[in-house]
Amino acid sequence: MGEFQDVFLPDEAKAIRNEFLRIKDNIYLDHAGTTLYPESLIDISSEMLKKHLFCNPHTSKLTGDLIDQARYRILQHFNTDASEYAVVFVANATAALKIVGECFDFGENANNGGAFYYCQENHTSVLGMRELVRTNRLHVLTKDEILKNLNISKNIDIEKSGALSDDDDQMKSNSLIAFSAQCNFSGYKMPLDTIKSIQKHGLAVRGTKIRGDEQQDNGVANNFYVCLDCASFVATNLLDLRKYKPDFCCISFYKMFGFPTGVGALLVSKRGQSVLHKQYYGGGTVNTAMSRQDFHQKRPNFSTRFEDGTLQFLTIVALLDSFRALERLVPPTNEQLSVQRISLHVYRLAKYCYESLASLQHSNGAKLIKFYNHNGYEDITLQGGIVTFNVLHDNGTYVGFAEVACIAAVHNVLIRTGCFCNPGACQWFLHLSNGDIRKQFEAGHVCSDYTDLVDGLPTGAVRMSFGYMTRIEDVDKAVTMIRDCYRTTAAERLRIMESKKLPDALRQIPKRLRPKLKRICIYPIKSCSAFEVATEWALTNTGLKYDRNWMIVDVNGMALTQKHYTRLCLLKPIINLDKGVLELRFPNMRTMQVPLEMEDAKLGKRVESTFCQTKVCNDLVEGLDCGEEVGAWLSDCLETSALRLLRQNAERRRTPDGVTKDISLANQGQFLLVNSTSVRWLAHKVEVEREPLEHTIDRFRANLIMETASAFEENEFEEISVGGVNFKVDGFCTRCQMICINQHNGQKTNEPLRTIAREFGGKIRFGVYLSIQDLSQQKSSIISCSEKVIIKKKLKSMQY
Ligand SMILES: *Cc1c(COP(=O)(O)O)cnc(C)c1O
Repeated sequence: MGEFQDVFLPDEAKAIRNEFLRIKDNIYLDHAGTTLYPESLIDISSEMLKKHLFCNPHTSKLTGDLIDQARYRILQHFNTDASEYAVVFVANATAALKIVGECFDFGENANNGGAFYYCQENHTSVLGMRELVRTNRLHVLTKDEILKNLNISKNIDIEKSGALSDDDDQMKSNSLIAFSAQCNFSGYKMPLDTIKSIQKHGLAVRGTKIRGDEQQDNGVANNFYVCLDCASFVATNLLDLRKYKPDFCCISFYKMFGFPTGVGALLVSKRGQSVLHKQYYGGGTVNTAMSRQDFHQKRPNFSTRFEDGTLQFLTIVALLDSFRALERLVPPTNEQLSVQRISLHVYRLAKYCYESLASLQHSNGAKLIKFYNHNGYEDITLQGGIVTFNVLHDNGTYVGFAEVACIAAVHNVLIRTGCFCNPGACQWFLHLSNGDIRKQFEAGHVCSDYTDLVDGLPTGAVRMSFGYMTRIEDVDKAVTMIRDCYRTTAAERLRIMESKKLPDALRQIPKRLRPKLKRICIYPIKSCSAFEVATEWALTNTGLKYDRNWMIVDVNGMALTQKHYTRLCLLKPIINLDKGVLELRFPNMRTMQVPLEMEDAKLGKRVESTFCQTKVCNDLVEGLDCGEEVGAWLSDCLETSALRLLRQNAERRRTPDGVTKDISLANQGQFLLVNSTSVRWLAHKVEVEREPLEHTIDRFRANLIMETASAFEENEFEEISVGGVNFKVDGFCTRCQMICINQHNGQKTNEPLRTIAREFGGKIRFGVYLSIQDLSQQKSSIISCSEKVIIKKKLKSMQY
């Protein structure tokens, strides 16, 4: 585990602890969501409210003065004053961003140059500005594209085209760029030197166009303004406006103090004030407004013009106490301001948390955690007090964040999961394509739900974030929780999740840890396409009813297999129980029908045929010829003469030494079971172009397709029960070339066999064979899709 050096002196730490007794045995790690208020702040605020006669600031000078006092205090906190910045009170950072989006003046030629640029890793509140900005040009930039503006030398082209030569400013359009000072997803801190550089030189690269016409800028450089989303940053960092001069800063105070809520600020630089124009007026924002004539005049004071209606005066007044409380609990030292000490504290906690989590391993040595950050935890100027990650299974697949949320809820650990309103950062860190995101959306995933994995890919992550009252013990407990839960089995996690009442939204999640049957497929004709059972199906002593009851033989009586006739997978048998027929379909051919049951009298010829030389299927099989018509039809389909369709006669077949077996024409076992979670794992290992997961599953030609929480749980099964039917595991399925045939088009590839061979050190096994011991002893002779799978007996150790 990493080392940790406390920023706070023992007495300070103790005083802080006494302010948060209400946390009790909870562990609060969502400071990026909001920090917590100290209890004395509530006492002081309520005392103040009781003592003074606060009223509408238009009525009471006292209230108005305190509001102005709050403005000064805010500016002082950011190391600036009213000569440089105006404070516009708003409800929250989102409201501040909205004002900038709505009121930024892109200039006279807004359609000829002025554009809105934003960083990909941005809060949805910034993305929403796209809908309000008065320009039709939108560009998105990656964080690295924005960083290209750092250390730009004076001789670049943009300079030559005159970005900041003030002479023809009037002619230029205005462009706006928005990015976060600290990303609320990863905790990445954008180097703020970029601000000056962009204001001075414009953008070095323009990113990717999202909307707007092809022409760009027509060689005329614009005036660039920077809107800095400071909501996450200022909570635990010093924003020094003497040093950096963004034109617009957007802030929510609850993220700094925990209390009060409902108030934020838009700080506007002098430069920014010249390009922010507001249409609406209301309440005290006008000098005069005539009601019987279309005339009004707005206030000359910049802030007042933007503060529609009555301010949150009681809330704003409380801010003064919030600043004081912070300085009381984290006193400034000679070297550092309160907020700088907090900054160091949360950074060290994050670094410690990161190092502790990074050291976690599964018993097979695999890493437990996949982190999402740009620079690790080596530089406080680039990384804040946030650790974002996903948990991994021992085979590298993802644990859904909703499961982690469940585990955390049971342990009273408050953390945030999902994409934290930052879909762009989520997309970048999770390597999701636009297509992946659309697919997740189409699969029903919406922001803040618990659809945490779609096709095995995460839709979000787990975030731990820290505040000045977070202690090292809190981090240890959270890390231990992750370690203990995710080094155990799915069954143990299920037990933990069900040990306590979960919040409603998470109630569904533990169920996912229970294995389920998802699909049932039968293969009426050996080596031909699957027939998927819609709801339920009958069992017989040889397996699923009608499974591999037919086969196609050639002129020598040899059974056709996909190995030589890949087109067999295009031959689709459909069992129609109502009509009592097996319907056969083949592309561009008319449909053929044969009866499901053949009575002895109408049999026609009785044929004896041996088929297939492989060691498992050189048994002798007695078949009944299904007739001329279907034989000719098959010959046409497969362009091979003299083919016949045989119906297996008895339910038993004889081995060459005369032993009979309860088995259909299947090669090995009664039932083949494949786990879709394992197939998904495999599909992600396959390096060639992806096919839909269902197609990969279909290559395995399984009868029972189940799903478990983690891959390869099936390899541990010894006995299972599916909907009251008991199955015994007979062994692994040894894989052959057949899985290299795409069952939807008959094309042969090297995959996924090659990947299986590589991943399992040459042991080409995947899926398990099951058998029913004695059907007459079973509770049911019918099996239905979406049954629960109960593991009755497990092997001692997992086998791969
Ligand atoms: C929290 C946050 C916001 C939104 O703040 P609200 O208080 O919800 O308006 C915007 N951007 C970032 C980076 C944030 O962390």
